[in-house]
Amino acid sequence: MRTQLWSLGICMSTSVINVRKALKLLILRKMADKEDHLKALYEMYVKNLSYDDVMYIYDVSKYTLRGLIQRLRDLLHHEIYVRELVKTSVPVILEKTPKIVHRKGVAFICPLCKRTFYNMFPEDHIMKHHREIVEENLIRIIVEIKRRTLEEETIIT
Ligand SMILES: [Zn+2]
Repeated sequence: MRTQLWSLGICMSTSVINVRKALKLLILRKMADKEDHLKALYEMYVKNLSYDDVMYIYDVSKYTLRGLIQRLRDLLHHEIYVRELVKTSVPVILEKTPKIVHRKGVAFICPLCKRTFYNMFPEDHIMKHHREIVEENLIRIIVEIKRRTLEEETIIT
């Protein structure tokens, strides 16, 4: 199934775009100092924890998680692909993607432009002002996921 997701991404151009969009969504959470969202997502999809469990562990609202999951479903269409993407990409993103914006209470601070934001989605700021970092990271993450999935397959066969 893992290979299927990536080969699907490689073969069908529309899916490539959607897989990239879904990855970007997850990368932006990490860059926006919201790695709790990614950890909660991982626990739900890979360790089968419930909304209530992860809300309690990570202090992430059900509304936030539902919104994120819905966006992933809209992009990838099948629950099985959402699961595969979460399973393969979240550990890599948590490990390899830098945090750009820092959360401080209700505020977000961007050290790159030395600005503090309130009542704003930091992901929007990152996409608007630091897009090149996002794009560069996306490429690195895809390469790393492919490298790891390839290694795993080699071990199996
Ligand atoms: Zn900035």
